[in-house]
Amino acid sequence: MKNFLLVLASTFFVITIVCLCTMCDDSGGCHKHKKHSHYDKPLEFSENPSQDFEYRIIKKGSIGKTDKCLVFKDTAEFNELARHYDMVINNVFAPAHLDGLKEIAILDAETFVDGEEEDERLRGICEWISGKSYVCIAGHCDENDYVLLHELCHSVMRRHERLFNRKYKKDWKSCDEYISKYAKKSLDEDFAETGAAYLYGKRDKDNIKFKLFERYFNEIKN
Ligand SMILES: [Zn+2]
Repeated sequence: MKNFLLVLASTFFVITIVCLCTMCDDSGGCHKHKKHSHYDKPLEFSENPSQDFEYRIIKKGSIGKTDKCLVFKDTAEFNELARHYDMVINNVFAPAHLDGLKEIAILDAETFVDGEEEDERLRGICEWISGKSYVCIAGHCDENDYVLLHELCHSVMRRHERLFNRKYKKDWKSCDEYISKYAKKSLDEDFAETGAAYLYGKRDKDNIKFKLFERYFNEIKN
């Protein structure tokens, strides 16, 4: 598998770079040959009428310098991915959840890395810049839907962080359960991992974070 390079342009307005979804599994190895039973299968939803979201899905992110080789040339394939992402989003989120989401760039890659952590193979990034989030997804990655949900959970959290901090953060931090090893990396990653798993339908675990996420997610929606 080729390694691709995504060079993120430096910007004066970057407040936070969140989410570096790695390809590394819990054992620390690359999982390019490993099947993940939980999230491999795409989510299946009905074609709901489109809601009034602000985001747009594009081939080339507007905030970074995307290498030419990462831009989709097969427009039909790109359109199919964009249609699927739209369907997932319309079935899972309400516009209020993704208030700050400006764009989703789908790149023609299985993975990409940023310049600072060349050892990690990344599948998704969510950047929060001047009050808006910009998501980038490797369009051919494994667990495509899961990566999308993970990145969008970062966007939800950034946009509604005050509510989370005020009402949910204390209980969240008092819970010592983690959905994955990657979730232990930070509160942001824990939230995104937990939220993505919840939205993917994994709600059976006796994990208080699922309940907290559900309450928070529903509170924003209304
Ligand atoms: Zn993340």
